[in-house]
Parts: sequence; structure tokens; C-alpha cells
Amino acid sequence: AKDAGRNTVRFFTGDLNFLLSKRLEIEGRLRRAIDNEEFFLRYQPQVELATGRIIGMEALIRWNDPQRGEIFPKDFIFVAEELGIIVQLGEWVFRTACGQLKAWEDEGLPSITVSINISPRQFMSRRLVPTLLSIIRETGADPRRVELEITETMIMRNLEQSVQTLEHLRSVGMQVAVDDFGVGYSSLGQLKRLPATSMKIDRSFIANVPEDASSGSITEAIIAMAKRLKLRVIAEGVETRAQLEFLRANHCEAFQGYLFSRPVTSLEATAMLKAQAAA
Ligand code: C2E
Ligand code: CA
Ligand code: CA
Ligand code: CA
Repeated sequence: AKDAGRNTVRFFTGDLNFLLSKRLEIEGRLRRAIDNEEFFLRYQPQVELATGRIIGMEALIRWNDPQRGEIFPKDFIFVAEELGIIVQLGEWVFRTACGQLKAWEDEGLPSITVSINISPRQFMSRRLVPTLLSIIRETGADPRRVELEITETMIMRNLEQSVQTLEHLRSVGMQVAVDDFGVGYSSLGQLKRLPATSMKIDRSFIANVPEDASSGSITEAIIAMAKRLKLRVIAEGVETRAQLEFLRANHCEAFQGYLFSRPVTSLEATAMLKAQAAA
């Protein structure tokens, strides 16, 4: 028994060392990645249901690792968040997306919004509002065309502080979308207090409509609630015609998902906007 105990300890120590060294390796690579400009943004079109027109683009970060190729956010965002690197990375995302928005504005392309994801740590930071404002000034982007995506869970973690931060952002004209909506358990009373402009129905609900009755009723309820709160409502992760028709029947205003387009490079996104302008 004593031996087994010792083995267990040794096993755990080895495992921890392995995890720790892996973590340190990712940390080192992440820090270098910012300096080496290994990150880039993809853009996923957001489409108005009634017209089929692109009304926005969500910026989604990717890491182009020289050895491993394109890495998705699920494999590095949590490490960046834990290490605090996310604040610097988030600023890079915001600056790059605002620069892209300004470039599209300058090309005279149809006016769309650019949606930018904000991480929990970024959202809690006192520097958030002044930093975003100085980047808006620096890039010359129109703040009314910038939409921040903040998850429902993040907002509800500290409702008082969130309301203050969101009010500040709204006062300079930025839009605010409540991301991954439906996953948290906010009450109507709490939601009423939020100075948000739109709600994004989480993909987990959309994935199961129209077959699953409960996902269907939740989706309907979210759309109805958004309308009561006078918020725009957008569905994410739309992959099939049947899902789209369900959303249309329930008067959802906009959607994004593989059915219309996967997240594309900035060049491809520009081409899509040009094609729309020419049509
Ligand atoms: P999210 O904000 O919920 O973004 C939507 C995710 O769903 C994206 O994954 C997108 O590629 C994916 N998606 C879009 N349409 C479909 C579809 O029809 N089917 C399926 N199965 N998936 C679809 P992605 O790009 O891998 O991003 C994952 C998450 O990483 C995002 O979830 C967001 O939480 C985070 N993230 C991405 N970019 C950033 C960023 O710049 N900053 C921060 N803080 N987080 C980011
Ligand atoms: Ca999002
Ligand atoms: Ca989302
Ligand atoms: Ca999500």
C-alpha cells in the first residue's frame, strides 16, 4: 500500500510537471506571437433575414503558428486569459478590427457594423473604456459601427459594474451585443437594466431546432423577450435551411452561420461587401 501511495505521488508529480512545461511552452510562444504578428482576424458575415443582405461582420481571432498552422481560439484564448496576455491581445483585436472597418468605410462599401468579442478579463479591466476610446480616435473608425460582444455570464457576474461600463460605452455611440444568450439564467428584471442593443441566441439552441421542441420554445422565448426589451436579435450557428426557416417564422431579425458563410479572411470579406455593393 505504501508503494502504491508513493507511485501515485510520483505519477501526479510527473503529470503536473508535464502540464506545467506545456503551459510554459504555450506561454512563451504566445508572448512571441504578438511581437511576430502571428495573429490574424477572420470575419463572419451577419445577415438580415428579411433582405438577405450582409449587415455586419464578426471578427474572430486566429493564430497562425509557424509550425502548427492555423490555431483556433479554443486552444489558446483560455491560456491567454489566465496569463493576462488577453488584455494586450484584445487591444490588438480591437485595433485591427477598427482599422478594417475604417478601410471599408473609406472604400465606400455599404455601411455595416463590425462585432468584436471582449474577454472577461478585458471587460473587468479599468483600462477598458479609455483604451477603446483612444483606439477609436487613432483609427478614425465610426464608433456607431462598432459592436462589442459581451457574454451574458460575464455581465451577470457583476451586474452593477457591468451596467456602468456598458453605459459608458453606449454614451460614446458603441453598440453592445449580449453574446451566447440563453446559457446564463438572467431574469427579465436584470435584463431590463442592461444598456445593450442586441442579443445573440447561443448556437447550442439553434443546433437543435426545429427537431427538438424545447430548444424551439427557448429560441421563440428569447426572440419574444428581445422584442419586449426593444433589442435586435441575431441567431448564431445557423447551418441548415430548416433552421433558417424556423427563425424566419419566428421573426428573428438576423443570423450568422455556415449556411451563409464560414468565417473568411479580410480579403474575402472585402470581396463579399464589394459584390453586395455592385448588386
Ligand atoms: P463565439 O463568440 O460564440 O463565436 C462563434 C463561434 O462559432 C466561432 O468560433 C465561429 O467560427 C463559430 N461558428 C460560426 N458559425 C457556425 C456554424 O454554423 N456552425 C458551427 N458549428 N460553428 C459556427 P471560433 O472562431 O472558433 O471562436 C470560438 C470562440 O472563441 C468565440 O465564440 C469567442 O468566444 C472566442 N473568440 C473568438 N475570437 C475572439 C477574440 O478576438 N477575442 C476573444 N476574447 N474571444 C474570441
Ligand atoms: Ca461572439
Ligand atoms: Ca456567441
Ligand atoms: Ca459561443
